[in-house]
Amino acid sequence: MNIYDSIRMGDLLKPYGFEVVTDTHDYSEDPDMIIFNTCHIREKAAEKVYSELDKVKKKKAIKNKNGQEMIIVVAGCTAQAEGEEVFRRAPYVDIVVGPQSYQNLPVLLEQVRRDKKWAIDLEFKENDKFDLLPEHNELKGPSAFLSIQEGCDKFCHFCVVPYTRGSEYSRKVPVIYREASKLVSLGTKEINLLGQNVSAYHTEVEGQQWNLGKLIKHLAKIKDLQRIRYTTSHPRDMLDSDLLSMHRNEPKLMPFLHLPVQSGSDKILKAMNRQHSRDFYFKIIDKFREHRLDIAFSSDFIVGYPGETDQDFRDTLDLVKRIGYAQCYSFKYSPRPGTPASVLENQVQEDVKSERLYILQELLAKQQLEFNQSMVGKVLPVLLQKDGKKRGQLIGKSPYMQSVFIVAPKEKEGQVVDVSITEGFQNSLAGVI
Ligand code: SF4
Repeated sequence: MNIYDSIRMGDLLKPYGFEVVTDTHDYSEDPDMIIFNTCHIREKAAEKVYSELDKVKKKKAIKNKNGQEMIIVVAGCTAQAEGEEVFRRAPYVDIVVGPQSYQNLPVLLEQVRRDKKWAIDLEFKENDKFDLLPEHNELKGPSAFLSIQEGCDKFCHFCVVPYTRGSEYSRKVPVIYREASKLVSLGTKEINLLGQNVSAYHTEVEGQQWNLGKLIKHLAKIKDLQRIRYTTSHPRDMLDSDLLSMHRNEPKLMPFLHLPVQSGSDKILKAMNRQHSRDFYFKIIDKFREHRLDIAFSSDFIVGYPGETDQDFRDTLDLVKRIGYAQCYSFKYSPRPGTPASVLENQVQEDVKSERLYILQELLAKQQLEFNQSMVGKVLPVLLQKDGKKRGQLIGKSPYMQSVFIVAPKEKEGQVVDVSITEGFQNSLAGVI
């Protein structure tokens, strides 16, 4: 979602004379504005913002000395959570703007230039946010993101999202359809529908309740749209018969589901306030497999949540073994200020967390490698998205979200081609057209 928001910030600032630079790693293109679109989900991500800010401090001072402007913006969830604290720790920052108010960036920029002092906007104005964003007017790549839902009402005890992104909000069907059609008319072949709780998507259309499944059915009618994906889902909202039947009947919907579970222990799931049990999670997985035999799963895991015992951790390993994932994200629990879990006393020791993470990641890596190797000999439709690392190579995505490397002419970029898979590696596949 931060990628989508970052792209939209670029779109917003274009009419004001800004162009997005290509190298965003070392600020070597001497930008006039730097926007840090930040994440606050883990402590490490939040602290990284300050270390990056430190790097640009000197650059700004040199530019200013030469009479040139350099506007520094901190956007995203760290901005929302830290607010004016950002200016205290980094007084050379010009703008602090939250994820629900970045549509006001041009106004804030004008304010900074006019008043010669910092500007801040952290309001939750999700209703008008998307209305104020400009229409897409250039290709955003063969695969593009489209936010359909924001915010979260689930309040898992470890998570800051409900505080930084606000409550659940679903965009209206006509505006989503219009945005998707525009992206496709510009050349996009695949749309990734985004939401913090994308499966909680719901809205009213002519007096009827529409959910994610109905929305996907509607979007699939866009003629040149070839692929639809959605992320991230919460298990509680997944027993949606429309969505399940889409997985059975709609070939444009890719057979891949990212469904975070976080832990395989009922005791920990309860402590996390996940509002589902491990059996319920198995039930969902079974249902999806019933509807789409080859569907691949990914998930998120937190190890070392407060109170997690060896037995709880073994329950997580057991869940992973029973499901068999295609790929996963796993992290050590990181206390986030303001969340209920951060003040619990039964925190797990750092070395125990590290050991458990190592064991879990070994298992997940083994499953991922096995999954990738099981593709060898198969022919997969691959959407070619960009240049590979080697000359003449293109990288694309399989239906199951695997990166696939092939040697192919540049003209094939943006097309779905049939690839015969020859090798399966830890994080990718190789093949030939
Ligand atoms: S459902 Fe996801 S976004 Fe919402 S509180 Fe839980 S982990 Fe955070």
